[in-house]
Amino acid sequence: MSEHNKTPQTLQEWQAMAEALQIEGRAFINGEYVDALSGETRPTFSPGDGRELAQVASCGPEDAELAVKVARETFESGVWSHMPPMQRKKIMVRFAELIEQNRDEIALLESLDAGKPISDTMNVDVPGSVTTIRWSGEAVDKIYDEMAPTGPNEIGLIERMPLGVVAAIVPWNFPLSTTCWKLGPALATGNSVILKPASNTPLTAIKLAGLAKEAGLPDGVLNVLPGPGSSLGKALSLHMDIDCLTFTGSTDVGKTLTEYSGQSNLKRTFLELGGKSPNIVFADADLDKAAEAAALAVFYNQGETCTAGTRLLVHKSIADEFMQKVKKAAARFKPGHPQDPNTVMGALIDKNQFDTVEHYVAKGKEDGAVLFCGGAPAQPVEGGYYYEPTIFTKVTNDMTIAREEIFGPVLAVIEFDSDEEALQIANDSIYGLAAGVWTKDISRAHRMARDIRAGSVWVNNYFGGDITVPFGGFKQSGNGRDKSLHALDKYSELKSTWIDIS
Ligand code: NAP
Ligand code: MG
Repeated sequence: MSEHNKTPQTLQEWQAMAEALQIEGRAFINGEYVDALSGETRPTFSPGDGRELAQVASCGPEDAELAVKVARETFESGVWSHMPPMQRKKIMVRFAELIEQNRDEIALLESLDAGKPISDTMNVDVPGSVTTIRWSGEAVDKIYDEMAPTGPNEIGLIERMPLGVVAAIVPWNFPLSTTCWKLGPALATGNSVILKPASNTPLTAIKLAGLAKEAGLPDGVLNVLPGPGSSLGKALSLHMDIDCLTFTGSTDVGKTLTEYSGQSNLKRTFLELGGKSPNIVFADADLDKAAEAAALAVFYNQGETCTAGTRLLVHKSIADEFMQKVKKAAARFKPGHPQDPNTVMGALIDKNQFDTVEHYVAKGKEDGAVLFCGGAPAQPVEGGYYYEPTIFTKVTNDMTIAREEIFGPVLAVIEFDSDEEALQIANDSIYGLAAGVWTKDISRAHRMARDIRAGSVWVNNYFGGDITVPFGGFKQSGNGRDKSLHALDKYSELKSTWIDIS
């Protein structure tokens, strides 16, 4: 389904569509696209070739103030929070349909703004976001509240109530997906939302706001404020009239947001943070399948994935043979033009991220790891920041490249001797977001899945899951849960009403 006659099929056709795009860069408050109160704008760039895509409203604390007032009044009015569930469902399902109908444009905006391959945004980010909004909407009129097993002369009602005003702050690596993971459950439960996209990638969030209105979402329920984390994000996080802060991003900022919550009104703060996920390959695994997945696990989305399988733990007895297979699989991730449908790895988000990758590659060499392949920039397109898929072998888990999140296409390979050692290495991290386990031994698979301290464990696959299962971290990978009905609980308070009928 597309509003365009024909979905572009080639780089040239996507480029032609990009040329013709009318890009909206204004904020969205109370159902209208508006400039920042200061009138300030900042450019957003295309990481693929460095060109400016649009000037975007740069909102600050004064815009936050206005948006909170609007969101609060809208919430109190009951126009959304008290709308009959079936009607709320209809609007959300319609919102999902409009995203689907605008698939080409949204996928292109996401690819342009974030440097992601167009085939990923078309096949993963946009359809996934449609599913998230639709599924959350469809849940609205199917969730029952509870009545407690009290004595005969009392009634104990246990009801989910919306929190009120939710601020969502999202990153640049999966701008559309993380936005929808927050919007779906927050809207479904009747809250009003203020969304702050990452400064690098505001465009799809801005586009979505207009579609939500078109779907019938009442004005003021969804407000989108682009602007800097350091001023706008901070103002939202410290605001006394925001009830919940839902965040995806770095562990450092997550810690700061927790402090802001304590300094202000103890707003519920749900964090989805970084990771350094182990992907463990035992000698009895299907090595061909595991090797393909090991490359995907770390090079998908240029390595800018919080769940990336950045620590590949390989049993000593198969290490040499297996790593030849991984090297072959890695070659498929040659960086290319993000808008070329054949590209599987696009551009790093910006110069900062590129410098970070270079820094860690230098550190890996310095610490004595062996550069097995890659380790250099690539330049498929002038003006963009690209890096070759890079693998270090002979890594030990105390090396910096095994401990810190790089957020680029860099894999650290660590060998192990026994199940116990694999488990010990896997859990020796401040993070606990995800893990992969490759084995044909069902007991070993269950033991590892049980004992690995991570929010998601993938057995004989990597990145598995869909909207029906929760996603989130253990340890310093955060405390939130996106997706599934469990996400809806994060955006609700439980109210107990005790009625004496004697
Ligand atoms: P980040 O700094 O945590 O940014 C995430 C979001 O938080 C952005 O919208 C950002 O706004 C905002 N923000 C920044 N400082 C803030 C503050 N003091 N108060 C409120 N909001 C604030 O992450 P990043 O800069 O995008 O990437 C840095 C590192 O974070 C990456 O290298 C990676 O290690 C990690 N990361 C993890 C994930 C994940 O999904 N787990 C996603 C992205 C990044 P601005 O865009 O305006 O700064
Ligand atoms: Mg951008």
